[in-house]
Amino acid sequence: MTEEKAFLYSAEAPSDEQKQRFTSFLKKKYGQDIELEWVCEAALDKGFKLVVGSEEYDWSRQGLYEQFIHSFNKEKKAGKELIPLIKEELQEWDVKALPAERGTVVTVGDGIARVSGLENAEYGEILIFDCGVRGMVLDLTEETVGCVVFGDDQEILAGSKVRRTSRTASVPIGKGYLGRIVDALGSPIDGKGVIPVEAYRPIENKAPGIIERKSVNRPLETGILSIDSMFPIGRGQRELIIGDRQTGKTAIALDAIINQKGKDCICIYVAIGQKTSSVAQLAENLRKHGALEYTIIVAANASDAEPMQYIAPYSGCAMAEFFMEKGKDVLIVYDDLSKHAVAYRSISLLLDRSPGREAYPGDVFYLHSRLLERSARLSDEEGGGSITALPIVETQDNDVSAYIPTNIISITDGQIYLESNLFFSGQRPAVNVGLSVSRVGGDAQTKAMKKAVGTLRLDLAQFREMEVFTQFSSDLDDVTKNQLTYGQGLMKMLVQPQYKPYSLHQQVIILISSLAHALQHIKIEDIYQFNQELLAHFEKDYRDLCQSIDDKGIFTEEEKETIITYAKNFAEKFHV
Ligand code: ATP
Ligand code: MG
Repeated sequence: MTEEKAFLYSAEAPSDEQKQRFTSFLKKKYGQDIELEWVCEAALDKGFKLVVGSEEYDWSRQGLYEQFIHSFNKEKKAGKELIPLIKEELQEWDVKALPAERGTVVTVGDGIARVSGLENAEYGEILIFDCGVRGMVLDLTEETVGCVVFGDDQEILAGSKVRRTSRTASVPIGKGYLGRIVDALGSPIDGKGVIPVEAYRPIENKAPGIIERKSVNRPLETGILSIDSMFPIGRGQRELIIGDRQTGKTAIALDAIINQKGKDCICIYVAIGQKTSSVAQLAENLRKHGALEYTIIVAANASDAEPMQYIAPYSGCAMAEFFMEKGKDVLIVYDDLSKHAVAYRSISLLLDRSPGREAYPGDVFYLHSRLLERSARLSDEEGGGSITALPIVETQDNDVSAYIPTNIISITDGQIYLESNLFFSGQRPAVNVGLSVSRVGGDAQTKAMKKAVGTLRLDLAQFREMEVFTQFSSDLDDVTKNQLTYGQGLMKMLVQPQYKPYSLHQQVIILISSLAHALQHIKIEDIYQFNQELLAHFEKDYRDLCQSIDDKGIFTEEEKETIITYAKNFAEKFHV
């Protein structure tokens, strides 16, 4: 503090004794002699305002009122009853002349404001403008700070005052958030009223360290056969879903959420830059399938300000961490990070940062790495909770080597690559088996699944090669023909409609019977129907076996034989 002069604003001139008290307060506070100058301010009929440099001690009526409302609001957000709260607040309210640092808006536009006079503002700090709108500091220069505005910047004018809060952005969270749709700052936007708050968490948080973590060892079943069998996801893993537009990316995430029903896993869906109608539709689908009650939707839609889209995934992650630290398993979907990067690029360009590759700023890698690193499986000492992340990235014309896709591929533990060719040929989910991979999930796969999958990936790879070779030849020998039909059958086996997740025993039965060539004589177009009927009948006849696979995650050789024999018999009957 190098200020040598302080200004005292009040309606009446202070007495000598009052002046003395102010000077000694200033000396004690700033450790130096500061000259006090009185300025007559008739508007302050009672009380005073003391301004030292950019700090302001507001003891006017208005200032005290603001202070009360602020502390009152904090309690109110905690979901307390209104009348007793007012009484309690009034009794306990301790008026203080708190210093508040105030700056002045220099320029404003496009959701960005430049503010002068906030020398001590920190990166990521929340500022409050006179009109009540909030902003976040994202750029620090010697003269001014640049901040993004959360909300409408129309009411902010050049010359408006801005207050520091000394707090970084945080979101409220609690159990009441389950089943609700909130914006990026945690305020409900579903019209279902106030949500009781249990805690406030900063949206940016350090990722758990090595010691606090444990290796991924429990599966997170998506219920999608092609994923659970070949690209299994473990609790605490980060698995990217990547593909062109309209290839069923959201559908996979949605099915994964729906499949968590009754599995003690909380889900968070973060919608970034999507149409409001799509998010509403998604919420409705979740509700219809009984999945909304354990899901929080954090939505920063295309019509929302870019800063909201920028912070939405961090807010969602902060909410996930709240549950993870309570020892819960959480599944979080970021839909999608390409739009997130685009929002950040716009903000950065407006803040005059120099553009780099594809016009993204230099720190765009850090943007996503610091987000995805926060997914983890905590050790038992830390409560054993986990955050599994399913980030989604949209590619242009199947180009996975673009900037953002390559960045995110390198941060995640694998990717599920969806291809439009497959999607349009009816192979849905359109998972490209050759290019998809899951790096850590294998350890988490159940024994039953591992055993049932057998040589599936290899068989599919062989089929793909053979398909290319035999494309142009007309007369094939019987062995080759059989192998081709077998491969086509396997591909057909992986076709699965939306909202129809398979349970473990269903996946195991389908895999075992298909890989044992039990479906050899079933027509390719009948395979889906056959599998459904086989499951229905088998479940009726061998309920205990199905139950034991689901519960124990394992099956014996005899049980495998039972399934194969049953499937073969069923195929004969089906054929007739
Ligand atoms: P966008 O790029 O617009 O976000 P997306 O890649 O997320 O699209 P979805 O919205 O999930 O794609 O799916 C596109 C369409 O395909 C939807 O109408 C959806 O119902 C349909 N679809 C997705 N998966 C399947 C499936 N397994 N079976 C049948 N239809 C599906
Ligand atoms: Mg989508």
